[in-house]
Amino acid sequence: MKSECPDCGFRLVKHVEREEYDYKGKTSDLDTSILRCSKCGKEIVNPKERDNHKKRIELSVDGFLTDRDIKRIRQKLRLTQHEMADKLGSWAKNICAI
Ligand SMILES: [Zn+2]
Repeated sequence: MKSECPDCGFRLVKHVEREEYDYKGKTSDLDTSILRCSKCGKEIVNPKERDNHKKRIELSVDGFLTDRDIKRIRQKLRLTQHEMADKLGSWAKNICAI
């Protein structure tokens, strides 16, 4: 990620802005990381990170497990990523292909 302002070359500082995101009548906090130039005030937003966060909120509201839920479950079970993959087997790999 860039750490210098493309306009003036000054240092960019990371800020997190929180906004409300409504999805199917449920309001969630949507955090967006913004790099802001401390000299000219130019702001750079990573739209992919914001989209990923939005997607995670939508999955959660729709009742799906998010990537973070799965990680939390794995850690609760004290399994490494490799052990979790072994336990789930090919089912987990194939579910996305259905
Ligand atoms: Zn600048």
